Amino acid sequence: MNVLVINCGSSSLKFQLIDSDSEQVLAKGLCERIGIDGSRIVYQPAGGEKITTESPMPTHKQAIQMVLDSLTDSKNGVIASLEEVGAVGHRVVHGGEKYASSVVLDDTVLEAIEECNDLAPLHNPANLIGIRACQELMPDTPMVGVFDTAFHQTMPEKAYIYGLPYRYYTDYKVRKYGFHGTSHSFVSKRTAEFLGKDINQMKIIVCHLGNGASISAVCNGKSIDTSMGLTPLEGLVMGTRSGDIDPSIMEFLAKKEGLDIEGVMNVLNKESGVYGISGLSSDFRDLEAGAKEGNKRAILARKVFNYRVAKYIGSYIAAMNGVDAIAFTAGLGENDSAVRADICSYFGYMGIALDEEANSCRGEDKVISTADSKVTVCVIPTNEELAIARETLALVSK
Ligand code: ADP
Repeated sequence: MNVLVINCGSSSLKFQLIDSDSEQVLAKGLCERIGIDGSRIVYQPAGGEKITTESPMPTHKQAIQMVLDSLTDSKNGVIASLEEVGAVGHRVVHGGEKYASSVVLDDTVLEAIEECNDLAPLHNPANLIGIRACQELMPDTPMVGVFDTAFHQTMPEKAYIYGLPYRYYTDYKVRKYGFHGTSHSFVSKRTAEFLGKDINQMKIIVCHLGNGASISAVCNGKSIDTSMGLTPLEGLVMGTRSGDIDPSIMEFLAKKEGLDIEGVMNVLNKESGVYGISGLSSDFRDLEAGAKEGNKRAILARKVFNYRVAKYIGSYIAAMNGVDAIAFTAGLGENDSAVRADICSYFGYMGIALDEEANSCRGEDKVISTADSKVTVCVIPTNEELAIARETLALVSK
């Protein structure tokens, strides 16, 4: 069966058509600037060149129509008609406490997702718009929602309750949820599989290090803690997000800089992280180039990022009372050997040792620790689209 995977943001939409039998990507692409002047679709059939088409997309419905037209196009399409799309899997950012796993989308589920809009005001409304537009254009095709938060719903209370008045949890559901769940789930499973071990008897720490970055502690296949919180702002120092800070800094900055709460949040989400520290870029490749030229703040930004990751790994070793494997994934985790080496250097006392040559790998499943390292460290590329396609197939073939 072919599964169309849709990841719909407020002004962009990423898609992949995956043949779930072979797990091959048939075509993929991106609609950009939806609702804004200059909207365009970049479409790439497997083995073919990228094709960019500028076309007005005032709403998400037009964007999805463009996606469907591209997939069925007589010249560059990969399917003859939409009947060859067996199901659609939608990435949904926030499922609140209601969804601990993926679910077939119907009106009741859409209402429940809408109830979570408060918790993810930038993402959930956009996800819903994408789902509704797809339903209008493909009314008879089953659709599944795959939630970023679902995998972390196994966290125990002690991990997800904040040190705040308890009624904020009961009244407003203020608690840690965690994100990147599809990736943490995929990578932890793949790590066990790749190492030939039973995930139900493993303690794994997954480091999803991209522009958005988070870490999870996966004990016997279940997430028991993760670094992102009520929103993706908590935890690691990221591309432009601050991660953990003293909450009093918010008041301090508001007074010093004359900012209101939106202004402060904007600083913490968009002007902080390695971008804020370096003043140069949120992209680690730029920081590496800067560091090579002796840019002190670029060097500092990388150090601060790595140190925070190491501290989280240390805390999750405590949370699980040990660790069998540490898996690096996402843009940085898969590609940046210097980041991996620096992070692992904090754990020499535990007998973690990297094999320098193995660690020079990029984007492939690989053990990068030495044979006598006490903990196995590996690179495991994430594939959120494939994970969504698998979840979708599992639910619609029931
Ligand atoms: P997101 O999905 O959160 O936008 P990604 O997982 O794509 O983020 O990761 C983006 C980060 O990964 C950037 O900082 C980028 O510099 C880094 N990155 C991506 N590819 C490479 C590479 N080949 N070498 C080093 N860093 C890379």
